[in-house]
Amino acid sequence: MRALTGVGLILVGALLSGCGGGGAQVGEQRVCSANTFVPNYVPQLERLLYWDRFPVTVYFERDANYSDYYRTLALQGFDQWVDATGNVVRYQVVQNPDAAQITVYFKPDTRNGLTTYTYYPSNGRLRDAKVEIGVRGNNPIDIRSVAAHEFGHAIGIGGHSTNPEDMMYPNFVTSVPLQISQNDLNTAKTAYCNYFIGRSRAAVREPDETPVEATIVCGHNH
Ligand SMILES: [Zn+2]
Repeated sequence: MRALTGVGLILVGALLSGCGGGGAQVGEQRVCSANTFVPNYVPQLERLLYWDRFPVTVYFERDANYSDYYRTLALQGFDQWVDATGNVVRYQVVQNPDAAQITVYFKPDTRNGLTTYTYYPSNGRLRDAKVEIGVRGNNPIDIRSVAAHEFGHAIGIGGHSTNPEDMMYPNFVTSVPLQISQNDLNTAKTAYCNYFIGRSRAAVREPDETPVEATIVCGHNH
């Protein structure tokens, strides 16, 4: 069953050039541009994607690296986006992996994070995402920060900021909590712009195409 609600994204046409799109798609309205919410780093991204509705479902893989403690820290990181967007971005933790849109893994061999997602290239709609959160060192500040950063990718920020003040800068300094900057927030708002400008969303068709996979590797702290 298709669970499409009346939500859809107004894509920024310029974003899709270079990743197979290149303009507004059938059935979508172009309302927002990269100039709608400024400042932002939309032009620096490889792509800006979106989920067709919220809450997005999150599942924590119960492998040998899982712990409730890590889960709590990760959710605190995710909640930074929920709070910053005024509950526009929100998630629901599910217990059934088959119901997961975002699957979370903890990785003890690294402090870094990594996000892999699949999306439909014609309209930038996300299909699923896998988030890896490095927990080496067991530093709760870093685990929370990496979770927040990777969740930024998982909600559609496809690339990094070049400004070290932004959460989506690729590197982080250990034990310094990452915060969502105005640049970060405006970039996310661009992906979900019609939620923020009071427009109802046009329905998004289920794309009749093969999703594309992309991986974002996040750099190391100094
Ligand atoms: Zn990253």
